[in-house]
Amino acid sequence: MPSATNDPRHRRRRAGAARGNALGDEATEATTDARPDETTDARPAVPDALGDELVAAPPAHMAPSQAAHSPGVHTHMAPSQAAHSPGTHTLMAPREPIDDRALADVAADIVACRACPRLVEWRERVGRERVARFASWTYWARPVPGYGDPAARILILGLAPAAHGGNRTGRVFTGDRSGDVLYAAMYRAGLANQPTSVSVDDGLNVQGAYVAAAVRCAPPANRPLPAERDRCMPYLARELRLLTEVRVIVALGAFGWDAGLRALASLGHRARPRPRFGHAAEARVGPYTLLGCFHPSQQNTFTGRLTAAMVDDVLARARALAEGPA
Ligand code: SF4
Repeated sequence: MPSATNDPRHRRRRAGAARGNALGDEATEATTDARPDETTDARPAVPDALGDELVAAPPAHMAPSQAAHSPGVHTHMAPSQAAHSPGTHTLMAPREPIDDRALADVAADIVACRACPRLVEWRERVGRERVARFASWTYWARPVPGYGDPAARILILGLAPAAHGGNRTGRVFTGDRSGDVLYAAMYRAGLANQPTSVSVDDGLNVQGAYVAAAVRCAPPANRPLPAERDRCMPYLARELRLLTEVRVIVALGAFGWDAGLRALASLGHRARPRPRFGHAAEARVGPYTLLGCFHPSQQNTFTGRLTAAMVDDVLARARALAEGPA
């Protein structure tokens, strides 16, 4: 099978975006049935992210919305389509369309990244070994870029892809328990057209929001190292620079809160004193409002530390801030 490539010419040429993450609440399960060849790149032709051409055998860096994970099984909605296709739910009102090609470039760069040897080894090993219930899947096993509406006013920032969630499906918070909670809440808040997110071809349409992770590769035990966090942070900064409509950053957990502050500081926006994370905590940082929310991991939802109503309240507040005067 073709090997992965990091050829930057490919990245620029294809410029595909798509997005896919979560806190890895599934990372500790026993693995089975290793088939190491299934995470390589034999893929069918699929529409590219900008929706106007076909791409044969996408390279490894290609974003999930372009690259089918399992032939005949997974196809992808391009971000530009996803952001504007009609849904069955009342979504946050659309604004002027934004050229998402630069965002697609960021996504392509993320998907090609191999800068953290520990995480590269882990994400790929998880993809080879899998777990019994996902034994039929071909895992994405690459970094997971952000996903959503290029004209988003709300950025939702998690920790890192779940080993068997985003690392499997290729889309952020898709296919894991944290995503179940998040996307259901986004649906209730009018930020998504459906309450579930199980695979990249599930018809999800996120509008008014963009979802990303602070670290784009699934980390062992869901714990990125500080050096990995810092190495990945520029991708978030690049996205923030391009997501010009974003006013509110919903940080899922203290890690997301800290990563958001670091990314904003890299863009010249600092809050003094440094605001502390808390559920429903708010901090004005430059032109943004940072809004805290406990991470929707099973650890929090099963114990009742975080309820659906609590997430609803945070997203309602995010919408009010996003739609209010700047
Ligand atoms: S965590 Fe980020 S910087 Fe590290 S390899 Fe993954 S995408 Fe690259």
